[in-house]
Amino acid sequence: MKYDYLIVGSGLYGAVFAYEMKKRGKKCLVIDKRKHIGGNIYCEDVDGIHVHKYGAHIFHTSNKKVWDYINQFAEFNNYINSPIAKYKDELYNLPFNMNTFSKMWGISTPKEAQEMIKNQIADLNITEPKNLEEQALSLVGKDVYEKLIKGYTEKQWGRDCKELPSFIIKRLPLRFTYDNNYFNDRYQGIPIGGYTKIIEKMLEGTPVELGISYKEFLAKNGKIFDKVLYTGMIDEYYDYKLGVLEYRSVRFEEERIEEENYQGNAVVNYTEREVPYTRVIEHKHFEFGTQPFTIISREYSSEWKKGDEPYYPINNEKNNALYEEYKALAEQENDVIFGGRLGNYKYYDMDKVIEAALNKVDEIGA
Ligand SMILES: Cc1cc2nc3c(=O)[nH]c(=O)nc-3n(C[C@H](O)[C@H](O)[C@H](O)COP(=O)(O)OP(=O)(O)OC[C@H]3O[C@@H](n4cnc5c(N)ncnc54)[C@H](O)[C@@H]3O)c2cc1C
Repeated sequence: MKYDYLIVGSGLYGAVFAYEMKKRGKKCLVIDKRKHIGGNIYCEDVDGIHVHKYGAHIFHTSNKKVWDYINQFAEFNNYINSPIAKYKDELYNLPFNMNTFSKMWGISTPKEAQEMIKNQIADLNITEPKNLEEQALSLVGKDVYEKLIKGYTEKQWGRDCKELPSFIIKRLPLRFTYDNNYFNDRYQGIPIGGYTKIIEKMLEGTPVELGISYKEFLAKNGKIFDKVLYTGMIDEYYDYKLGVLEYRSVRFEEERIEEENYQGNAVVNYTEREVPYTRVIEHKHFEFGTQPFTIISREYSSEWKKGDEPYYPINNEKNNALYEEYKALAEQENDVIFGGRLGNYKYYDMDKVIEAALNKVDEIGA
């Protein structure tokens, strides 16, 4: 058996690519080292609650083409992401908006909020921010920074905001309307039935082998394909010969609770340093679940080392320069295409992954 494409990785990128290539008459085989399909958007159905095993995933896009495309595979519900921030015993709406400001300062008009922030920024007199703390303070002032940014960011990066470079926070959008919708995108929702179903549909009719890595597959079968689409880590493909690209990782602690409604919202961010986790996700609220029990995941941001699950690329100067070197190697390959968040060493939202995979298929012109 010879395939046109061996697709390494059954995540969203690999699945879109497989679907499009099958449509174009190509023979594909998908492999994944995990025991399930879907990559990081994989959801496990636990008695009717779709548990986002690799972190909360909310689909949002302003790209109509991508929205129409994904709607071929699932109907989306009307979930709107409106996270809550918990700082000690205070609760605030996110993103930073008039609800946040009125709770924080007891004010009610946009003018009062703008004035408050302007004065707090002016008091600090920061002209050239030297680190993330100064950068954030110069954008939002003391109160929002101390209650909603400092502790959360320190947990995310595992170090003090004074030791973090300012470029991590380029902008901090402030919204002077009473609008808790986290995303500005035109389209948003959660697929009814979960994300795994989407991937199943995309891979319908394409053979899939799970629990096998690319190298194991090659050792076992030899080169039974013409080309490879590789959505794993680009540095791993090259045996880290130029160096190791760094990531931040996340540990999820899942708990089933015999209570109908634990926190009243899908996403609650814990913004104080002293609480060790960054967020608690209550999965049923993504789909307005009414089960008599609930499932939550506490998210702990953690250091990453080779062999751990990579989540967020650390796109600092050093890593970006190293990625460019790997990319130069990749460009010399005739039979291997690198794609997806790991192949491109880039944080991609789902809509951007779909767009990139569709563009790649067009570029190949199969
Ligand atoms: C915590 C978190 C939350 C997120 N939330 C959102 C959100 O709310 N909204 C949004 O739009 N996006 C979100 N994203 C982004 C989203 O997860 C990605 O856009 C998407 O999953 C990327 O798909 P992919 O196919 O590129 O990669 P992946 O899903 O990582 O798929 C790659 C697959 O390749 C397999 N693989 C890797 N190496 C090998 C190998 N050597 N051999 C065999 N198989 C291999 C892996 O096991 C994996 O299954 C989030 C990301 C994270 C980390």
